[in-house]
Amino acid sequence: MPLRAKVASSVSRTAAALSRAAGRGDGSVIGGWIGLKIDPDLLAHLSSGRAIALVSGTNGKTTTTRLTAAAMQVLGPVATNSFGANMPTGHTSALAKAGATPYAVLEVDEHYLAQVIDATEPRVVALLNLSRDQLDRAKEVAMMAQLWRTALAAHPDVLVVANADDPMVVWAAEGSTHITWFSAGQRWHDDSWVCPECGSPIERRDAQWWCTGCPLRRPQPQWTVEDDGVVDPTGAWHLVKLQLPGTVNIGNAATALAVAAQFGVRPLEAVPRLATVSSVAGRYAQVDRDGRNIRLLLAKNPASWLEAFDMAEEAPTLLSINARDPDGLDTSWLFDVDFAPLRGRQVFITGDRAYDLAVRLEVNDVPFRHVSTFEEAVRAAPPGRLEVIANYTAFQDIRAELDRVN
Ligand SMILES: [Zn+2]
Repeated sequence: MPLRAKVASSVSRTAAALSRAAGRGDGSVIGGWIGLKIDPDLLAHLSSGRAIALVSGTNGKTTTTRLTAAAMQVLGPVATNSFGANMPTGHTSALAKAGATPYAVLEVDEHYLAQVIDATEPRVVALLNLSRDQLDRAKEVAMMAQLWRTALAAHPDVLVVANADDPMVVWAAEGSTHITWFSAGQRWHDDSWVCPECGSPIERRDAQWWCTGCPLRRPQPQWTVEDDGVVDPTGAWHLVKLQLPGTVNIGNAATALAVAAQFGVRPLEAVPRLATVSSVAGRYAQVDRDGRNIRLLLAKNPASWLEAFDMAEEAPTLLSINARDPDGLDTSWLFDVDFAPLRGRQVFITGDRAYDLAVRLEVNDVPFRHVSTFEEAVRAAPPGRLEVIANYTAFQDIRAELDRVN
């Protein structure tokens, strides 16, 4: 690395360490920010010489990044931004902290994908899904897909690993030269009923989908989920035992195996590594308190709520909603979520915007009880499993009450 980049990298590590020592979080944003101020090309310098995979999409990217990094460790040390700091400051900090590793797996905010591809020149880019998120500031889904499509067209050597079940992802990826398709499912269809190519309606039957006005249709995936396992491109089925719940995570595992395979990792070697992941920055963590087994699930937009309902057991459930800056300030998306799967469960609600949620549940015919604190919910729930589903800052608040459980 040039001298300036070495200095920037060293200062970045020190700033991150100071931030951690001062109890101001994990330091991954401030460290990267200072490093990039000293050397604006620091991310490119830190990326050079590494084989890199980028993972992007609206949902599941933190978990998929974690699983992919675990799979890639078959090959040796892997740098990764495992705390979800998924913008260039976080990438810079993660690579500076890791030192010289041959591999890196980076989660990338979907808005920054083009910029991060330019800076890191990745070998692989994995595209998971696109759906509505943070209505007051995120781009429209079709605009995101167009940004991705343009970014990939400018980098024809990138190996694209993409979800065949999401029409927006397929359209974003289809112009690439090297594509591996996986099938990780798509529960949320309401952002892809209209073809991004021609504007005609998209029709669906079972797993298939196709545009009624142009040739865009679901490609044949090489990696698929079958029962509780993953089928690889040779047709071999691998049982995938995870500590993470739900078929959603088997889909994330299929994606991780497909990405790792681009680097030469065989599924047989990678699968046991996936089982070592027990939680991801607090997601899926389980804590026992006062006879309650509390499990934390993060849900931050309509598609991820559908996934959370799939993962949660039929047990008493606490829902917590905030609308602070990282969550987005507009809670009208609550009306896009069908909360009917919660009928029949004991439901508690809390958080800054619990009353917005209350109105939604009332309309949705889901009985609930409002509690003013997390502690009150724990006391009110019967002994046994308590599922907690919360959006971003609400999740972090509850995680803090549980001593920042990982
Ligand atoms: Zn079309």
